[in-house]
Amino acid sequence: MSLDGTYDDGNIFAKILRGEMPSARVFEDEHVFAFMDVFPQARGHTLVIPKHSHARNLLDEEPAVLCELILGVQRVARAVRAALNPDALVITQFNGAVAGQTVYHLHFHIIPRWEGVAVGRHASGAMADPAELKALAEQIAAKIS
Ligand code: AMP
Repeated sequence: MSLDGTYDDGNIFAKILRGEMPSARVFEDEHVFAFMDVFPQARGHTLVIPKHSHARNLLDEEPAVLCELILGVQRVARAVRAALNPDALVITQFNGAVAGQTVYHLHFHIIPRWEGVAVGRHASGAMADPAELKALAEQIAAKIS
């Protein structure tokens, strides 16, 4: 998928937002929804998405939605840090398939990093244990402020 295109309501994150697919929810408010990545690149890999959006990528998004989204990303990233005590955090976002994008509903990745622990491959590998993701989501949710 290129940078241009039409938003597909059937994408997996739209389904999660509509409650048609399960997710390990970390946080939501009127603007954003945060949940655990099912193919985590590190323990605590969390995704933050806008709830009311038809943006496939960052370039498509309305400024007002983007403002709320990045504030949500910061809020969740602070909670990830407080919950898991990583040495660092990667916060990233892909636009277009060539860049690595696989789901076409705008989202940010929050990936905790620890010294000496390699980061996993993007959007691949084994699916995480849902019970473990739920426990991590609860740990992070408890630190949202
Ligand atoms: P991107 O490749 O930047 O579009 O990121 C999409 C992310 O969504 C990847 O890191 C996938 O592991 C993750 N992902 C795919 N399906 C699901 C799902 N059902 N629940 C949570 N995360 C998912």
